[in-house]
Amino acid sequence: MRLIFLGPPGAGKGTQAELLTANLNIPQISTGDIFRNAVKAGTAMGLKAKQYMDKGELVPDDVVVGIVEERLAEPDCANGYILDGFPRTVAQADALEANLAARGEKIDKVINFVVPKDVLLARLTGRWVCKNCGATYHEEFKPPAKKGTCDNCSGELYQRDDDKLEAVTKRLQVYEEQTAPLIAYYQEKGILLTIQGNKPVEEVYNEIINGLKS
Ligand code: ADP
Ligand code: ADP
Ligand code: ZN
Repeated sequence: MRLIFLGPPGAGKGTQAELLTANLNIPQISTGDIFRNAVKAGTAMGLKAKQYMDKGELVPDDVVVGIVEERLAEPDCANGYILDGFPRTVAQADALEANLAARGEKIDKVINFVVPKDVLLARLTGRWVCKNCGATYHEEFKPPAKKGTCDNCSGELYQRDDDKLEAVTKRLQVYEEQTAPLIAYYQEKGILLTIQGNKPVEEVYNEIINGLKS
């Protein structure tokens, strides 16, 4: 099963991908995580990506597409994957489609997460992430058992620089302008599954599972 998770920042894509990868036994491929790891490692690609991420802008298409193509060629992607946060522009979606077609493959479903803007703001500004395993928490909606510590791995939790209000506002605007056109793009291909994401985590999860069955 090859899936795309599409939705604005804070919609719950990472949270649901974490649950679904365990269930379907396929990897979650988060371009945001790949970039944050590259920044942490101090690679040339990371330094380049950071300039855009800090401002809440998108990393250029050619950089992102190259990274995803390399990742999809890894053996653990053979039985499918969840693309979390990619594609984010029509150019990225076209490149992905061409790359898959060359191998006789295609995307099965695109999950489109719909969440009102005020909820997105509350989610992003309260988000905490594990430095070690990337698990996501929320100070109010999904607090860890012990403040500042990951339930999974006891890693240290931190708040992303781009989850500050200024960058968040910019990211939501970038989503509307550059990523939201992908909703119609995948609707036309007949593979869009729209999910109401403004519900408790378990209810959203069940809606996705049921949607994938039908
Ligand atoms: P995305 O990957 O789409 O940016 P996340 O999965 O990181 O979104 O979720 C953003 C924030 O909202 C996190 O702090 C997460 O714990 C919280 N969150 C995710 N899903 C829900 C939900 N259904 N209800 C309440 N809070 C949620
Ligand atoms: P969120 O899910 O909260 O929007 P991500 O972790 O997916 O955040 O992305 C963080 C940042 O990484 C983005 O603001 C952008 O700068 C960069 N990024 C991630 N994925 C892409 C992509 N597919 N294309 C361009 N930039 C990306
Ligand atoms: Zn952890």
